Amino acid sequence: MKTKYIVFTGGVLSGLGKGVTAATVGFFFSDQYKVVPIKLDGYLNSDPGTMNPIEHGEVFVLDDGFEVDMDFGHYERFLDINAVKDQSITMGKIFREIQKRERTGDYLGKTVQLIPHVTDLIQEEIQNVSNKTKSQLTLIEVGGTVGDIENELFIEALRQLQKKVGEENMIFVHITYVPIPFGVSEQKTKPTQQSLSLLQKKGIWPNFIVARCPEFLTESSKRKISLFGNIPQTKIYTAPDIDCIYKLPEVFSAQQFIDSISKELKLKKGSTEKLKTWNKILTKKSDKTVNVLIAGKYTDLEDSYASIVESLKHCGFNLNAKINITFVDTEKDFDMEALKTTDAIIVPGGFGKRGIQGKINTIKYARENKIPYLGICYGLQLAVIEYARNKCGINDANSLEIDTQSKNHVVSLLDEQKNVVMKGGTMRLGSYKAYLTDGIIKSVYKKLGVGKENKNVLEIHERHRHRFEVNPKYTDILKENGLKITGTSETGLVEFIELNKKDHPYFTATQAHPELKSRLEQPAPLFYGLISSALKSKYL
Ligand code: GLN
Repeated sequence: MKTKYIVFTGGVLSGLGKGVTAATVGFFFSDQYKVVPIKLDGYLNSDPGTMNPIEHGEVFVLDDGFEVDMDFGHYERFLDINAVKDQSITMGKIFREIQKRERTGDYLGKTVQLIPHVTDLIQEEIQNVSNKTKSQLTLIEVGGTVGDIENELFIEALRQLQKKVGEENMIFVHITYVPIPFGVSEQKTKPTQQSLSLLQKKGIWPNFIVARCPEFLTESSKRKISLFGNIPQTKIYTAPDIDCIYKLPEVFSAQQFIDSISKELKLKKGSTEKLKTWNKILTKKSDKTVNVLIAGKYTDLEDSYASIVESLKHCGFNLNAKINITFVDTEKDFDMEALKTTDAIIVPGGFGKRGIQGKINTIKYARENKIPYLGICYGLQLAVIEYARNKCGINDANSLEIDTQSKNHVVSLLDEQKNVVMKGGTMRLGSYKAYLTDGIIKSVYKKLGVGKENKNVLEIHERHRHRFEVNPKYTDILKENGLKITGTSETGLVEFIELNKKDHPYFTATQAHPELKSRLEQPAPLFYGLISSALKSKYL
């Protein structure tokens, strides 16, 4: 079968949910076809790995260790796939390749230009990914909004690609916004009309419009968009504001949007098997509430911790509990009061010294007051520092990352990192094996059916993103004072720690980022354990 392509462009403003829309369309076809999402990002960074999450949202890490846009989280969760690095195409990557080719002499005698050289390379990369992955349906999300200078070349390349592969094999879905301004109580279609005309001027006539709107589009709004946008009314759909993204498949299916896509591309009808499974999970009653506190420093933007939030939601749905998340900025005046009403505490991944003392105080509070705790990456390193200071009597215990002068670096640089100078893509990244020995952590992985057991040791795989590690010189003293190291890597790195069940109901931490692999149908074990334990403490 020839690869079919669906391109998703955005209009009016960013943040409308293009990624979730693309993932939802793919959701219906991934049972019957090999569906491969590609994200095009117009920035000149090679990848988002060096960007501040407050600007760009969470940095998602793939199994192969590539750092990518957070939309890949939606793709993996909706399509139940593990993406690979080539699926993320940034303008930074494209320009670097162009320069390399020019220096190699690939363009000898030619003037290297944005068109055709850059636009050709973009098409080549898209088709290479499709061929390599044997994609039958490639979803292409164009980052940003039509009209941004950054994505002009992508849009032009896609216009050309459609000519190459044929209109019957490649369609465009334009996602726009229909606001209802305060005090007007009327759906306003003008921004959508303008963004459509912008796209059409670039030679692209979208096959479908998906309008994000606080409510379903009225017939009159559809009529106006249809008239000005020159697109049949039957090809205009709504993405209404919803409280939970996992409900979007149901919303699209009910509007027959998925059927229209099948018809347009001559694909088999979208499968509804997965929809049934999701609906079963989503309609479970939640009669209990768990208050979870996340103590971090990127709390201004919820997207900074997107996968953690999703993992908690997955647990909530599967354990019949409503999850209330409170973000606490540990850099600002730290309000210990917030801790008193919380049922579970997470210290997530992070970098640098800002807000550290607040995080350590939070961990101490969780440990001493027996509040279920999950430390993720930095949350493990800081739990070790807290334990070393307050339980092992090493008062100046610290991480090399926080205080280079400390005499007791209980967290230090990984050996392989000692000579690293380049910052981009050089952390310990991607999926690594860990071996779990008896304890709370191993039992929760086993309970959820994750891992392979051999001679009482459970082998599991989680994704990573860090430079520092627990200093092996201190593991004995930590253990002597009651900290259990129940998971190590193949090379002996500390990967999982916990406290004895008799001392604390659920005190766990990992050097990995288990949130990156959590799915609605298969929540990440450590999160599941956290919420189960919180429910037990609160309701039993
Ligand atoms: N800053 C720590 C390190 O580099 C932790 C990283 C993280 O939490 N992702 O090791």
